[in-house]
Amino acid sequence: MNRINRLSPRLANQIAAGEVVERPASVLKELLENSLDAGARRVDIEVEQGGKKLLRVRDDGGGIHKDDLALALSRHATSKIARPEDLAAIASLGFRGEALASIGSVSRLELSSRAAEADSETGWTVRAEGQQMETSLAPCQHGVGATVEVRDLFFNTPARKKFLKTERTEFGRIDEVLKRLALSRFDVQFNLRHNQRTVHELRPALDELDQRRRIGLVCGPAFLENSVEVDQRAAGLRLWGWISLPAFSRSQADLQYFYVNGRIVRDKIVSHAIRQAYQDVLYHGRHPAYVLFLELDAAAVDVNVHPTKHEVRFRDSRLVHDFLFRSLHRELADVKPEARGTDQVLPETSGEASERGVAQTALPLRDAAPVREPGGEYRFAAQTPPANPAGTPEQYAKLFGGGEESPPLGYALAQLHGVYILAQNRDGLIVVDMHAAHERITYERMKQALDGESLRRQNLLVPLSLAVSEAEADCAEAHREGLLALGLELEHVAAESVVVRQVPALLKDGDIERLVRDVLSDLLEFGSSDRLENRRNELLSTMACHGSVRANRRLGIDEMNALLRDMEATERSGQCNHGRPTWVWQSMDELDKLFLRGR
Ligand code: ADP
Ligand code: MG
Repeated sequence: MNRINRLSPRLANQIAAGEVVERPASVLKELLENSLDAGARRVDIEVEQGGKKLLRVRDDGGGIHKDDLALALSRHATSKIARPEDLAAIASLGFRGEALASIGSVSRLELSSRAAEADSETGWTVRAEGQQMETSLAPCQHGVGATVEVRDLFFNTPARKKFLKTERTEFGRIDEVLKRLALSRFDVQFNLRHNQRTVHELRPALDELDQRRRIGLVCGPAFLENSVEVDQRAAGLRLWGWISLPAFSRSQADLQYFYVNGRIVRDKIVSHAIRQAYQDVLYHGRHPAYVLFLELDAAAVDVNVHPTKHEVRFRDSRLVHDFLFRSLHRELADVKPEARGTDQVLPETSGEASERGVAQTALPLRDAAPVREPGGEYRFAAQTPPANPAGTPEQYAKLFGGGEESPPLGYALAQLHGVYILAQNRDGLIVVDMHAAHERITYERMKQALDGESLRRQNLLVPLSLAVSEAEADCAEAHREGLLALGLELEHVAAESVVVRQVPALLKDGDIERLVRDVLSDLLEFGSSDRLENRRNELLSTMACHGSVRANRRLGIDEMNALLRDMEATERSGQCNHGRPTWVWQSMDELDKLFLRGR
């Protein structure tokens, strides 16, 4: 049997490094977090060979006192917390006091700094050497702030070094880390150079326009054009940022940034709530894109859950789930044609475009609503004047009996190949996918009709008895009323068993056992379940699809106009039930550009 001995500081630090220092990108994350914690307004990052050879971060923050430099490199040394109570409400990004020690144990690290309150004009450099990580201090030239230089990562731990990928891959991850932090702090300037080439120069973004510009630079212009802004508050929580329109979904979940009090997190509660909000509008298997910031009292969230601090624990996770879902669901429901123009402003053309957008939203919707016959056919009840497709929308509107102004989706001109409606509004051309649009309208109507009357329940001829866990049975009991309102009656008959007596009539032919089990596990984990609603909506969606205008049916001009007006008045009408767009818009400016025509 071996005797016990104490690990050398370097070895102990290398073990700690195993958890947080996985690759150059994780080093950069720690260094950037330190700069931001130090109040930096500008950070310069220099990278060589994907960070494998060199990573240098220089900032203009508060710096480190000369006498503290050696301490900064040792484990369990931090200026961010001091007492056990501090752990309950952490306001800084770091607090564990081990990043520099860990990184220093697996690389050649040099820390230089001059503290803001230092009385001399010089700075000091510190490095730690040998198994004992003994520190040596030397004067150097340095402005106020700090520089951390990390060379030859994993030079002394070859096993780890082997896991590093190509220079390109490692740099890609570095870039991603920078983007995450750059989105979390619009007020800070970030510059990044790789192999002497400038990759990012993100100037401070203090007003809304600059913030949008940074979003465009980091997430790409397409995201900016196809997103809407969110800003919601309730119950001491605030959610703000940008979310993609459903039609701009992605095949990967790669454009998803969620921050809790400025810290990027990956969280099950959060992603579930967002998915649920998009549920009804997103094409199957696609992912939404978003940059979202959740702000709440620091004491309401625990960040001391995981060494990399990517996970958090909410004190009231159900409240957070509910707030996220409701806020986003509302925003997405509001995506109707009228919103177009204001929310889709490119940075270069923002001035002109937002003027146009404002003019467009100011347009009143025509209140002379068309009459739709029970069969779902579009027809105007009144004797309508003949259409005059060739005239201006204003002339046409006059003929039509509407106001002077044209509605957002304008007036129909013609039907193209039995599939698309061509319409003109004040600013250009609208093309509508007739079937997709009608399908959404029918679906939303059916949902509303069903929401209106209380859900019909159906008794099961033979009540279904299910063996469940005690926690699930208790949960069924606790949510009894809520489930009943959704049409599901569960009875708690024994410690580990429930009986299903009634189900929503619409779902009676489905796999009820599976449904009930899924609902209970959702309720246990998230405090709410959307399964019943989802199943019901899936069914309605299928019904709506079959009941909608099929392609190649001729619509009269009046019918087409009625459809356009219905779209303007229907929630989520920008996408069909499968998340595809229902209409597109080309402005006169865009058309002019196609024809190289100056106006
Ligand atoms: P933590 O961030 O968890 O406190 P670190 O090992 O990352 O632990 O850093 C140790 C300490 O060194 C920090 O608490 C901070 O006081 C100081 N420090 C590190 N980087 C900087 C910096 N860029 N500017 C000012 N102080 C720094
Ligand atoms: Mg730190």
